[in-house]
Amino acid sequence: MKSWHLIVDVARCHDCNDCFLADKDEFVDNEFPPYSAAQPWHGHRWMNIKRKERGQYPIVQTAYLPMPCMHCDEAPCLTADGAVYKRPDGLVIIDPVKAKGRKEIVASCPYSAIYWNEEKELAQKCTGCAHLLDDGWTETRCSQVCPTEAIKLVLAEEDDVERMVEDEGLERYRDSLGTKPRVYYKNLHRWEKAFVGCSVVYGDTDECAEGAAVTVLRDGSVAGHGTTDIFGEVAVDFLTPGREYVVRIEADGYKPVELTVQVDASLNAGTVVLEKA
Ligand code: SF4
Ligand code: SF4
Repeated sequence: MKSWHLIVDVARCHDCNDCFLADKDEFVDNEFPPYSAAQPWHGHRWMNIKRKERGQYPIVQTAYLPMPCMHCDEAPCLTADGAVYKRPDGLVIIDPVKAKGRKEIVASCPYSAIYWNEEKELAQKCTGCAHLLDDGWTETRCSQVCPTEAIKLVLAEEDDVERMVEDEGLERYRDSLGTKPRVYYKNLHRWEKAFVGCSVVYGDTDECAEGAAVTVLRDGSVAGHGTTDIFGEVAVDFLTPGREYVVRIEADGYKPVELTVQVDASLNAGTVVLEKA
């Protein structure tokens, strides 16, 4: 049977907040029984966009992680009495009647995707726009509005999703939690991995060293490599944070330089001056 999945491309998200606002437009002050009660004006982020700065000036990037409810297949938020339940199409719904007064539901989500509505005494979250999909929609409000197509809603058989995960290098965020999210991410390295960058200069001419080879090593094995650009800058990505790396910089006619850096998060290792060999 086909079921719903969301594919989010971290590299395409530029934090415009259109998805966040579309969610607000749909759910604030609007009730959709039996799917959801109205979202309050303040305090809820059913589509929560997490933000991160990578590196330091001038080698710096931003990364954004749009994070709705993951509609997990092994969801710890599910309750035996149906206050939180999973539909056959994969969506996880909090029943706005049965869940009333059940504040403990908020803490059951390891992704912090559930919010407490004080006025209604109700735990609430993203419904996957189930009321629209049941009405024939093929988009959620967030996927429909995203200007960069960073969010895609997919209705597919599990086998096809597995193939898509393999072909497109999709990953689950914090997969080790074991909840089997239905939200998959592309380019998740921008959130979970780190880069080490530097600016390289030729000492004899004071010019930017374009085309220098930069190799990042971990315990003698190559962990990544790159080539400096026209500004002499490079950022070698996909490194695992919390480790020590050696950065080797080489250019024809110049002495190689090696730096040892502790990469706890993306790092600009500064300016490296190459001396003539
Ligand atoms: S609408 Fe798209 S680009 Fe804008 S914040 Fe949401 S996911 Fe990112
Ligand atoms: S992300 Fe949280 S609220 Fe959503 S299904 Fe998973 S455990 Fe439940």
